[in-house]
Amino acid sequence: MFEKILIANRGEIALRVLRACRELGIKTVAVHSEADADAKYVVLADESVCIGPPASQNSYLNIPAIISAAEVTGAEAIHPGYGFLSENADFAERVENSGFVFIGPRAETIRLMGDKISAKSTMKAAGVPVVPGSEGQLPQDPKELKKLAESIGYPVLIKAAAGGGGRGMRVVEREEDLLGFLDLTRSEARNAFGNDTVYMEKYLGQPRHIEIQVLSDEHGNAVYLGERDCSMQRRHQKIIEEAPAPGISDKLRQKIGESCVAACKRIKYRGAGTFEFLYENGEFYFIEMNARVQVEHPVTELITGIDIVQEQIRIAAGEKLSFRQKDIVLRGHALECRINAEDPFTFAPSPGRITQYHAPGGPGTRVDSHIYHNYFVPPYYDSLIAKVLTHGATRDQAIARMRIALSEMVVEGIKTNIPLHQQLLQDKAFVAGATSIHYLEEKLARDKAKPS
Ligand code: ADP
Repeated sequence: MFEKILIANRGEIALRVLRACRELGIKTVAVHSEADADAKYVVLADESVCIGPPASQNSYLNIPAIISAAEVTGAEAIHPGYGFLSENADFAERVENSGFVFIGPRAETIRLMGDKISAKSTMKAAGVPVVPGSEGQLPQDPKELKKLAESIGYPVLIKAAAGGGGRGMRVVEREEDLLGFLDLTRSEARNAFGNDTVYMEKYLGQPRHIEIQVLSDEHGNAVYLGERDCSMQRRHQKIIEEAPAPGISDKLRQKIGESCVAACKRIKYRGAGTFEFLYENGEFYFIEMNARVQVEHPVTELITGIDIVQEQIRIAAGEKLSFRQKDIVLRGHALECRINAEDPFTFAPSPGRITQYHAPGGPGTRVDSHIYHNYFVPPYYDSLIAKVLTHGATRDQAIARMRIALSEMVVEGIKTNIPLHQQLLQDKAFVAGATSIHYLEEKLARDKAKPS
């Protein structure tokens, strides 16, 4: 096992990784920007190194500064968390070439999964169900393009191979828009991602977002830890996640889970990963793989009792998974509400000083957060300030516990989206379960149209 790990991230995930290291008896190095010098995890870490000014470009994305911090502190491995450099294949390569262990997949796997066309064709070849669409690159000939769209069936979605964060996608409803929209998406992709390769797939009307968590070691062992439903989204940003997904039978879970495990073995996947699917009319359609730990990993931890971050570290240290598929038992139901520093209804960011803070607690409640009384939420980064999780024997109990948790939680001095979560936890469709990925935006549009 490692003696010292450098955590190349900030916020709640830096604290989450730090706690996993402490439990495993591993020393930690926190790297931070000038804006995060007072952060809780920086104080709790065994060592800390300032890697630059506030802007992420000069600090959390500054590869040479992070590698030299690992060198001067004698860290053996680097945990990238999520976001920032976590899915940057060049970073993973630089880390390993500098003699450190990257806690995540091999650079070539990250590269393969980072290109949506290669990710999709790899998964299809491994037997994972994918969204029907073009195979590889699109034809040049306009006639061929129209024929392809026709055979997929309108509406179709044009997607950038290098797209991410919900950007680089356009729905085409009618043939007359096809060529114009293709050009538009191509030029947007060129500007945003420096790569204008696009592909086409069937646009699904009312899907849910359901994803499968996997763990895979370097000795050919892989398991799936069930699924999460992350359909409650705004602008492709998840805000509530839960596990298990309402209405997914054991048989269906097993079938999709086994196909993900087979894919992991085929690509010799290393570490924790997530297969993201759209789910509609009883069918799963792969959209992408996240080759890193995800924000919502704790809902799976609550129902499986497995510490995903510790497993990432063990796998990176070359250990074998200590459990098999049959040892994984799903217990009860878990929910996560992402608490963001933002206006609950206009979604305008709300950084600033927290003048009052009370965290919720009690049976079945977990709060992953780096904030504290008098903490200053910096304006430079993602607005996530806390993840409130509840676990219950049933979904109803998890919901009841979440309502209590949110009613007890006090964050003053800044705005948060707690009031929106409170509304959603009373919302009939959410309480019934199995809403589509469009539900939240449709609800927000309806509420806005209502006379107040
Ligand atoms: P990104 O890497 O930008 O997150 P994804 O491929 O994961 O891109 O897609 C992001 C979101 O776009 C999905 O969660 C879903 O809401 C929507 N989406 C993607 N593909 C389709 C599709 N074929 N049909 C309908 N919606 C889609």
